Amino acid sequence: MLTSLLALVLASRPPIIDAHAHLSWKAADRIEHIRRAAGVVAYLNLSGGNYSSTLDGVPAGVRLATALPGHILNAYTPDFDGLDEPWWGVREAMGLERSVREHGFVALKISKALGLYLRDPAGALIDVDDPRFFPLWERAGELGVPVFIHVADPKAFWEPPTPQNERWDELQAHPEWSFWGTDAPPRLELLYALERVIEAHPQTTFVCVHFGNNAEDPGYVSGLLDRHPNTAIDLGARIPEVGRHPPEVVRALFERHASRILFATDIGVSPYGLVLGSSGGETPTEQDAQVFYERHFQYLETADRGMTHPTPIQGPWTIDAIALSEEVLERVYYRNAAELLRVTLSAR
Ligand SMILES: [Zn+2]
Repeated sequence: MLTSLLALVLASRPPIIDAHAHLSWKAADRIEHIRRAAGVVAYLNLSGGNYSSTLDGVPAGVRLATALPGHILNAYTPDFDGLDEPWWGVREAMGLERSVREHGFVALKISKALGLYLRDPAGALIDVDDPRFFPLWERAGELGVPVFIHVADPKAFWEPPTPQNERWDELQAHPEWSFWGTDAPPRLELLYALERVIEAHPQTTFVCVHFGNNAEDPGYVSGLLDRHPNTAIDLGARIPEVGRHPPEVVRALFERHASRILFATDIGVSPYGLVLGSSGGETPTEQDAQVFYERHFQYLETADRGMTHPTPIQGPWTIDAIALSEEVLERVYYRNAAELLRVTLSAR
């Protein structure tokens, strides 16, 4: 009975674009297995590469798109080498343009290195709204490709890494993720700097990944979307956090901003293994990847209470599912990404 019900649910699910993945061309076969089993029509690979770190003159993502035609969309990831040279921004804006025009790339990805790790020669951290990046924001807007931007990190990473920290398991596996006692700016300062960038570039669309970079605060995220029409958010690796809020609050946010939320998992697939939203503990299997997807679907589609969340290492709590309507699901799973990335997909 359970099997046929599951099949029914699967058969009635809209096609899926997973808009936040980190995929290596060296793991193409494995990616294809996982993709088919999960019902994902296409991945947006936020590790598409650039023209510097390449052996054959094309960004690494091109190889993956060639291996799995019709199922891989790529984002350009700039090379931060030379960031202090006056031509850096222009060089990388040209790299972005070339990747779009020659290789069909559909987005720009900026990692949390901006604001947290990139430094000038004197050792000072480079601000999120540093003008060195302006040529990239501008060119992305001219080309009509969105900027997927990760700024800051979970709130708990700014708090003391002790057994009282709610992400203690994760911080034990990755002590270097803690910003406690470092010169990292306060978390909200990073988020406000991003808002200044968004406001200064109204022609550019910014996808604030990881649930608006602030899954701890749905009020902030809803306000971000209200304040800036040129923004969207993705769900990558944040259902465990989002699911802790009252389900009616989260459902209302999805309904209010139904056209600006993208289904995304932050799955990583490389020859070194799988990353299912976070890492630590045992090496995940392909079976684990299916469970990971099923828990995303369960959260979005059912009204289950106290369910296990997709990435247990993020914390020992359970979450309450939000039972979205078919209309909202169709947008979140597929249509929003297809419109934003300007793609049509037919193969399943
Ligand atoms: Zn990611």
